[in-house]
Amino acid sequence: MTIQRTLSIIKPDATRRNLTGRINAKFEDAGLRIVAQKRLHLSLAQAQAFYAVHKDRPFFAELTEFMASAPVVVQVLEGEDAIARNRAVMGATNPANADAGTIRKEFALSVGENSVHGSDAPDTAAQEIAFFFSGLELVG
Ligand code: ADP
Ligand code: MG
Repeated sequence: MTIQRTLSIIKPDATRRNLTGRINAKFEDAGLRIVAQKRLHLSLAQAQAFYAVHKDRPFFAELTEFMASAPVVVQVLEGEDAIARNRAVMGATNPANADAGTIRKEFALSVGENSVHGSDAPDTAAQEIAFFFSGLELVG
């Protein structure tokens, strides 16, 4: 078992509906510790920079406009196998395919407005954490 850190974002559809506490309870109940957290309203340019990996996908404009449409909560989750554990708690990208009890099954509105982001691998987790946080902001 490895202690990892992963980047989590509570997306605009969830902050609009006042779901940040209920979503974070799911992470904490799964053994993930929130070791850094802040609420931001991303500019379109910031959303485009964060999701640059998807710039050629047909949903890029929809995704980045959505991510800049209202505040988000960006946070770092820490725990055993945190990257995979977070993805398991999140559920499948499309809530129609998500398992019962997952965040996306309970809260997501659609494949686009799906309430949470989570890093998918150690290298992207490190890049995504560094996009939003300095080392001083990771408080354990
Ligand atoms: P995940 O967030 O599960 O890692 P992806 O990395 O494939 O999923 O996609 C990033 C985000 O882009 C998704 O969480 C979702 O908000 C959006 N997205 C993915 N596929 C679609 C789609 N077919 N239509 C609209 N938005 C999409
Ligand atoms: Mg992804």
